[in-house]
Amino acid sequence: MKSGKQRRVELIAERQAKEVKRAVKQDSTSNLEFAAPVNYEALAPNNSYSGSDFMRCGYYTDLPFRCVDCGTDETWTARQQKWWFEVAKGHIFSTARRCRNCRRKERERSNESRRVHLEGLERRRQKTSEAQ
Ligand SMILES: [Zn+2]
Repeated sequence: MKSGKQRRVELIAERQAKEVKRAVKQDSTSNLEFAAPVNYEALAPNNSYSGSDFMRCGYYTDLPFRCVDCGTDETWTARQQKWWFEVAKGHIFSTARRCRNCRRKERERSNESRRVHLEGLERRRQKTSEAQ
């Protein structure tokens, strides 16, 4: 059962999608490959409606970026941005920094260091309780 608010959010998203499609079609000089409308209500809580570029123009567009780790040129697609900001609730000023491969490596690295850290804590805890 969907709440009225969820339904309203969906309706707004549908309307925005139509508007963007129309705008892109009309503007034949547009270099937009793909644009996804911003659903402001789904964004992470913030105090600004003009904070970042996508918020000012009302839709996400494909953004080229260079991976900070391996230097590969990548595209952060409009679709990925919509997911990141509206589903994952990413910070509105956050941006893509790593390619898919490096993101995976970075995740494995931080999982590993968390595991090592937790094991260290556990060992210390056991030592403390033995000493008592
Ligand atoms: Zn990379």
